[in-house]
Amino acid sequence: MTSGNIIDGKAFATVLRERIGAEVARLKEAHGLNPGLAVVLVGDDPASAVYVRNKGEQTRESGMQSFEHRLPADTAEADVLALVEKLNTDDTVNGILVQLPLPDQTDEQKVLAAINPDKDVDGFHVTNVGRLWTGGDALVPCTPYGCLLMLKNKLGDLSGKRAIIVGRSNIVGKPMAALLLAESCTVTIAHSRTRDLAQRCRESDIVIAAVGRPKMIKGDWVRLGATVIDVGINRVEAPEKGLKEDGTPKTKLVGDVDFAEAVEVAGAITPVPGGVGPMTIACLLRNTLVAACRQAGIEPPAI
Ligand code: NDP
Repeated sequence: MTSGNIIDGKAFATVLRERIGAEVARLKEAHGLNPGLAVVLVGDDPASAVYVRNKGEQTRESGMQSFEHRLPADTAEADVLALVEKLNTDDTVNGILVQLPLPDQTDEQKVLAAINPDKDVDGFHVTNVGRLWTGGDALVPCTPYGCLLMLKNKLGDLSGKRAIIVGRSNIVGKPMAALLLAESCTVTIAHSRTRDLAQRCRESDIVIAAVGRPKMIKGDWVRLGATVIDVGINRVEAPEKGLKEDGTPKTKLVGDVDFAEAVEVAGAITPVPGGVGPMTIACLLRNTLVAACRQAGIEPPAI
């Protein structure tokens, strides 16, 4: 899953999904377990619709049940909450994911707080945040968990390594910090007010970029042999690809790391696209499997 020093997240995610599929088949056979994931999409945001479709397809491919609930953009908050409550009490549903962002009339925090924490496969509920930081049986946010799996696969034992996470969001930066701390890394969390960021990065064995600024982390911020995980997804103009029908330049995705520079110095690095992104849905399936096992009182597989 590594070619040269490039970590192939797509290949890694394929292997992970196959392992999950095998576990689903085994649990069906041994325990009659049939895990189900419900995804709620409110509105018609095109990017969200693509994510939801991909999640549904991959859930079915892994042998699990997929339930999709599409609500119109003008759905009242109370109706979203009522659907969540219905899914909370539906025994065929082991995992619930409400696709963000939600339309303006709906308070996202209120909706996320309404999800039964044991079915909260995104790991955003405060109960899971608390469990994660205190070493309990948390459902862990999918993107940072995918990063952790790739790091452990590449580096083995992470104990004692110096890690910097650039970005302190609730969905990536903070849970990533908790996961690396639990692996006994020495963790720095950087953000927009951090001083001497380049130097802080140079001191680190592991650099996780979760900022949302194209190519912000330069090659000379990375120490020779360090491992670089690029979470960023930024769409930028790509004039080299020509023009779209409307005469504007075509676009492409780039990460938060200047890949062309960093790949020359990093010991291992994830590309964008094809790095962290594909791991996120695979980890969502993993969380659904874990949630289903815990709800059935079965020890979850160590994936
Ligand atoms: P947020 O916008 O929530 O957080 C960005 C963080 O970056 C903030 O903590 C902010 O600091 C920090 N930041 C902004 N500018 C700077 C700067 N100049 N120097 C240092 N830190 C800075 O983003 P997310 O965490 O939601 O997402 C980050 C990126 O990851 C995005 O590109 C997003 O698209 C991508 N992403 C990818 C996923 C995947 O599946 N691959 C999943 C989720 C996100 P401050 O707090 O001080 O404002």
